[in-house]
Amino acid sequence: MRYLMGTFLRIEALHHGADAAERCLEEAFDEVRRIEGVLSRFREDSQIYMLNKSAHDSPQHIDIELFYLLEKCIEFSKRTGGAFDITIAPLTDLWRQAERKGILPEKDEIDYLLSQIGYQEIILDEDARTISFKNRHLKIDLGAAGKGYALDRAAAVLKKNGIEKAYLDFGGQISYIDESNSVEYVGIKNPLRPEEVMTSLPIKNQSISTSGSYERYFEVMERTYSHIIDPATGRPVDNCILSVNVIGESAMESDMFSTALFVLGLDAGSRLIEKSYGVKALFAVRENGKANFKKGGVEIRCVN
Ligand code: FAD
Ligand code: MG
Repeated sequence: MRYLMGTFLRIEALHHGADAAERCLEEAFDEVRRIEGVLSRFREDSQIYMLNKSAHDSPQHIDIELFYLLEKCIEFSKRTGGAFDITIAPLTDLWRQAERKGILPEKDEIDYLLSQIGYQEIILDEDARTISFKNRHLKIDLGAAGKGYALDRAAAVLKKNGIEKAYLDFGGQISYIDESNSVEYVGIKNPLRPEEVMTSLPIKNQSISTSGSYERYFEVMERTYSHIIDPATGRPVDNCILSVNVIGESAMESDMFSTALFVLGLDAGSRLIEKSYGVKALFAVRENGKANFKKGGVEIRCVN
């Protein structure tokens, strides 16, 4: 297990030789560490940190890996009508500051930052492989895609080393590798009582991402607010959703989906999932104080 991207990454892998297993686990942890060094907006030596400081002044040249990652995020913003939006950073910072100061943000602060954000305000130039921001206070936050991307890359390292069965658990994001394609069952936590497993979902060589407000949130004036911000309002999401679990082939796509569905809510979220091939969602919704489970438009399960 290693502490990376502000959370713990645990990897279990089956391999015929203990030393070989140790080596390829280390290589997978190194790959996640490398990616954190590129994507973290908390580290002054990362490309994202450099972009957030300078991409409003002039176009910045970035690695091809980061270019395509950002292109994918912008594509996904279009697909979700802006519910997923990596330019949310100024608003996440505003609510994190509100938590520190213990007072809610003013309406005009939120409105001003809303005028600064939006994935449409990012200019990606494929020929020059540069990126620039149209607005002075635009900043990027990959909190809803970076862990998923890192998990996909770690799984690729394990497969490259001949690992046929592995389990990767990265705080709210789990990936399974199983070349024999057997079905595993992953327990789904009750968002109202996270120590309880409320139901389980079949998973086969896929990744599951959970977005919810029971582990990460902002606390201001004795009230908790989701860490997931609605880019349309600039405020923490406040709908009937308690958590969303998304199963898909790619950890990055599941990561982005779970955040987007949390913002979209049950009806719009179910419609998006029904149009999305190879992705399943399970919503836990608050109804008269209980956590009911609704599969993405498939069935309602009251589980407590
Ligand atoms: P998700 O639902 O997957 O994502 C929620 C996160 O995405 C929010 O925390 C916010 O960052 C962002 N977000 C909010 N609303 C939206 C939206 N509408 N659209 C798109 N994104 C949104 N945490 C630390 O405490 N310390 C660290 O040093 C640290 N380093 C990190 C480095 C990297 C590269 C990454 C990817 C994350 C890091 N984190 C760190 C964690 C990060 O701050 C988020 O809290 C975490 O990624 C939340 O993941 P989640 O799966 O729980 O929630
Ligand atoms: Mg996530």
